Amino acid sequence: MKILVIEDEANITQIIRLYLEQAGYSVLSASDGIAGLELHAREHPCLVILDLMLPGLDGMEVCRRIRTWASTPILILTARQAEEERIAGLEAGADDYLIKPFSPRELVSRVKAILRRSTPANQTEQHPAQAQQAGGSEQDLRFGGLVINLPARRVTVMGQPVTLTVKEFDLLVTLASSPDRVFTRETLLHQVWGYTYLGDGRTVDVHIGTLRKKLETVAGAPHHIQTVWGVGYKFVPHPATRPQGE
Ligand code: CA
Repeated sequence: MKILVIEDEANITQIIRLYLEQAGYSVLSASDGIAGLELHAREHPCLVILDLMLPGLDGMEVCRRIRTWASTPILILTARQAEEERIAGLEAGADDYLIKPFSPRELVSRVKAILRRSTPANQTEQHPAQAQQAGGSEQDLRFGGLVINLPARRVTVMGQPVTLTVKEFDLLVTLASSPDRVFTRETLLHQVWGYTYLGDGRTVDVHIGTLRKKLETVAGAPHHIQTVWGVGYKFVPHPATRPQGE
């Protein structure tokens, strides 16, 4: 089942892609409305995830245009404050909405719920075993000795399994899915916790601390998660030799 994501923030698209692929869907993406409409016409996705705030042709207009000729379910992404926008989006033909920042798991469950309502029973979700088979090692993120298996939520370092909490795992996937990108604490709170923690970046610092400790206890393990002083954190895919004492 193909899902089309129309969103201009590459990082959000990436996270959506990871979680949906993990759930057994295939994902197409467009970073603006025109490209999204073209992909929709060509690929006939079974669902559209549509950000309302897009450059050029805005999401509302994209929604209206899709509705002139197709009944594809549309899930809109909208900002917390904009209640009117949300309602207008639903009025323009969207099936459901999610308020940004949202948790990726919530997004997946909304997608499943919408597809369950809109598709005949025999075409709904893939059996978990099938998704597993279809994915295989393609669903691993590999960085030297660090391997992250998305479907199983399993991490190994130099071949040794590392047990992470849900938040530690989500934090690692968020960072590792955009290597070398610097994430602020606020962004990580939004993406991993799914809400604003009233400006308390300490939550992130604490989880980064425990995550690092777990990933780096194995002898010779590389130092992937780096602090960018005064800004936040980034994931370095192929770090140089680990500095002594860190
Ligand atoms: Ca946007």
